[in-house]
Amino acid sequence: AAPHVVVVGGGAGGATAAKYLKLADPGLRVTVIEKNPVYIRPYGSSEVLNDHIGMEDLEVGYDALRDRYGIEFLFDTVTGVDPEQRVVQTAGGTRLPYDRMIVSPGIELLYDRIDGYSETLAETRLPSAWIPGGQTRLLRDQLHAMRPGGTFLIVAPPNPYRCPPGPYERGALMAEWFQTHNPTAKVIILDSKDSFVPGPSMLLGWNRLYGYNVPEHFREGMPLDGDWPLREHDGPGMIDWVPGYDGGRVLALDANGGAVEAEAGHFEADVINIVPPMVAGRVAFEMDLVDGSGYCPIDRRTHESTRHPGIHVIGDACQADTMPKSGYSANTQAKVAARAVVDLLAGRETEEPFWENTCYALAGQEYGLYVADVFRLVDDRIRRMDGPRFLPLDASRAQIRLGALYQNHWMQTFTKDCFA
Ligand code: FAD
Repeated sequence: AAPHVVVVGGGAGGATAAKYLKLADPGLRVTVIEKNPVYIRPYGSSEVLNDHIGMEDLEVGYDALRDRYGIEFLFDTVTGVDPEQRVVQTAGGTRLPYDRMIVSPGIELLYDRIDGYSETLAETRLPSAWIPGGQTRLLRDQLHAMRPGGTFLIVAPPNPYRCPPGPYERGALMAEWFQTHNPTAKVIILDSKDSFVPGPSMLLGWNRLYGYNVPEHFREGMPLDGDWPLREHDGPGMIDWVPGYDGGRVLALDANGGAVEAEAGHFEADVINIVPPMVAGRVAFEMDLVDGSGYCPIDRRTHESTRHPGIHVIGDACQADTMPKSGYSANTQAKVAARAVVDLLAGRETEEPFWENTCYALAGQEYGLYVADVFRLVDDRIRRMDGPRFLPLDASRAQIRLGALYQNHWMQTFTKDCFA
């Protein structure tokens, strides 16, 4: 019989892996086991909050992967694996044998790590909306109903986390929306970190669009003259970022009082959006693929688990060194893992891998930024190659608008590359 590859999780990583396994070897039998018959994409999900898109625009189906490539789907929850016998188990009672497995379960949010916060609160009153779904809709509704002049408070997570620019993009998109719908509203981002990616280019965007005063030590390279210089603003702008060095680390949530205690003091807010610390998706723990870091150690050349042979881990759940946890990373890791699995099944030496990632981010709907990288294997670690990475700080208005256009088009072509 044809070798059988089981893919756990049909998100950005898993869907790409299944498709590229079939493209590399149409003779393989490939089965994806996925909890939900419709994927709700996390990438781009903050654009639901400002009504740029609707919840339904986040939905992606699996028909193309099934019909075009002959990939089999089992909609069920994986609960464990017998790595010796190479059999995967599901909540529905299926025991499916595999020759090799690719696992891409995404993340689990550790709500309880914030004193006073919980999953129940996130589902009912204080949505995190970092895994999209009902919480995204709830947060959107809260923001749209916020009282005039109210405060939207975002708590950014510690490293490493899914989508490094995400919390800052979310703050920017809402600041832009408030300018029209609630012009005296405020956005505050509390952060335990001292910097973020793509820091300076995002801070410059906030300066230009929302009256943010850029801290002195982030100003290097920012244009001081020309047609769109850095500006000195009199008062505080619409958006404020409180980094770790200013006491942005959050100590506790007072859910009933609508406030957060941070090192810098007491912050009251009308809408509170906490992005808690996170680890690999729960099933990675159930399969014993995780080490003390909370993520899955792998042989970087093949993405094969160093804990259980025959199981490859990709996407947010794996330890990928300098690669950020992004959909783009999951997609490129999926291609590396698919190639390695096909080679290993055929008894061939696998090629030297390389990876790439571009994180597009918006400081406003017409203000696009990016960080773009190529990665190679160096001393068995994934290393970022040197070179220019960011949209230059002296980019023209046209380049910035193009950045937003790239983001928009990327979102569409990327989804096709993963799911169609
Ligand atoms: P996921 O895409 O989360 O897929 C995991 C899948 O596994 C899910 O479908 C889940 O249902 C399934 N699953 C989990 N456990 C089980 C189980 N036990 N049994 C069966 N199935 C299971 N990335 C970018 O590249 N660009 C962006 O612009 C971008 N913007 C973002 C904006 C926001 C607000 C957020 C939150 C994220 C953003 N991302 C972006 C990040 C990106 O969405 C994730 O990095 C990416 O989805 C990770 O892919 P994955 O395959 O690891 O996990």
